[in-house]
Amino acid sequence: MRKHSKEYLQNLTPYKCYEILVEGNDRFVNNLSSDHDHLEMVNETREGQYPFAVILSCMDSRTSVELIFDQGLGDLFSIRIAGNIVNNDILASIEYAVKYVGSKVLMVLGHTECGAIKSAKQGVADGHITELLKRIHPSISKAMLKDEKDHLFHDNVAYANVENSLEEILTRSKIVKEMFEKGEIGIVGGIYNVENGQVDFFKNLTKKRKEDKVLEKV
Ligand SMILES: [Zn+2]
Repeated sequence: MRKHSKEYLQNLTPYKCYEILVEGNDRFVNNLSSDHDHLEMVNETREGQYPFAVILSCMDSRTSVELIFDQGLGDLFSIRIAGNIVNNDILASIEYAVKYVGSKVLMVLGHTECGAIKSAKQGVADGHITELLKRIHPSISKAMLKDEKDHLFHDNVAYANVENSLEEILTRSKIVKEMFEKGEIGIVGGIYNVENGQVDFFKNLTKKRKEDKVLEKV
């Protein structure tokens, strides 16, 4: 079956899509990334797109999802914004991806050493930045309960921030919540480590289906 086709996407389960991301990051970390023929991919995807995942991640130049999950053109919907925060336009983009295109897994990906998180912590206020950083403040309060002096404090905030974004998506998007509850889509939270390229898939709410279990036994 052709990879970038409707049938291919329809045959993938949400759990399989999660596994594709895990395996892709594993290849990336081990320097075994696939040899992507970009021109060939342009050709393959010229008639339509069937991305299996939608990933909300930070705009940080080190966290390009196609690279860190070893994917190519047409494989991922990539929504990027400083601090991987959620707003109405981002919710709309996620809803479009899962409901109208058929992406099977939704991931929120934060990262270590996030500049947006550091700026929020320092109370930076300037132009439109002020408004965006406000959305990170609840995560700072949560992480503070742990240890503010810990050198990993910012990374703790990054984890809390991914949790917050996931919670916000599930609370505010009826479409996502219903599809998730029916098992039509999976939900994953992760943190990318800028020091070694590894993604910590610390939260996986993706349910396994019968066909996933059958595959496991083989
Ligand atoms: Zn960042």
